[in-house]
Amino acid sequence: MSATAKAVRKGASELSPAAPDLWPVAEFPALRIDCRLPNAMTIDVEDYFQVEAFASTIERSDWESLPRRVERNTDRLLQILSDGGAEATFFILGWVAERHPNLVRRVVAAGHEVASHGFGHIRADSQSPEEFRQDIRRSKRMLEDFAGVPVRGYRAPTFSVGLGNKWAHAVLAEEGYCYSSSVYPVKHDLYGTPTAPRVPFLPVPGILEIPLTAVRMLGIDIPASGGGYFRLLPYRLSEGLLKRARRVNHSPAIFYLHPWEIDPEQPRQRSAPWKSRFRHYLNLNRTEPRLRRLLRNFAWKRMDRLFLDGERGPFPVVTSWTECSQA
Ligand SMILES: [Zn+2]
Repeated sequence: MSATAKAVRKGASELSPAAPDLWPVAEFPALRIDCRLPNAMTIDVEDYFQVEAFASTIERSDWESLPRRVERNTDRLLQILSDGGAEATFFILGWVAERHPNLVRRVVAAGHEVASHGFGHIRADSQSPEEFRQDIRRSKRMLEDFAGVPVRGYRAPTFSVGLGNKWAHAVLAEEGYCYSSSVYPVKHDLYGTPTAPRVPFLPVPGILEIPLTAVRMLGIDIPASGGGYFRLLPYRLSEGLLKRARRVNHSPAIFYLHPWEIDPEQPRQRSAPWKSRFRHYLNLNRTEPRLRRLLRNFAWKRMDRLFLDGERGPFPVVTSWTECSQA
């Protein structure tokens, strides 16, 4: 074991049991995250026709009549995770759970966490606080009924929690959620809050926001959480960004992907705008081999075990939207 690994392991074992809830960034200026400390693998369980990129092309009223592929694709992901010895958090759409309750049960049986992706894949920032409350309440109850375990995590569709709807965190806490992973501290045309912390933070008492992973290089916030970038960039570059983000942010990385991203055979939306088709269909055949490689090269845990249940290492957690070194 390297000196760094020993130091990290020693630090984690000494600090974890009696650690305070907050981990000020400044206390760990010299810490370098060791490669063996796990990251969080997350899957946003929705079908290919429910994505934001096709929102202007496919009517919600058509969802019911389209061939569903989410069950077979999610089962395939369960197999890939099993082969790679990884555990993950599945943010499942209530709409999908309602039609595939046994899939929810299989996710639990395989040792993964079930969390909520809302019910109908409606952006959080396009809902009123009351509509949002109904959406996250309905999905939580349904998932808990099927899963038989508490649902503690939430991810907003299209990372749609930001400065314009900060109330969402208070509603999540009131509805019994413990954490959210809905803020992406980057600039993007569909989402993003570049000024948000890049490490877990407590936006309101009672709920932890675990932002998607970004790393600042040359003054630019670069996404390092996977998704479409994992298909776009060469594998080595994705891996390098992930490692650098862990080092610079002193925090585990959060990686995400969707079941439809391992499905090159899915029906094509030929009337969708060029940019949407490019984003959605690029390198679908490369996701699975890249994912298998990623699972071999890093250790992966579910969100709740990593951040809520005592395995939290010496990771920084800041207390507000603004208290963070964004240098
Ligand atoms: Zn989604």
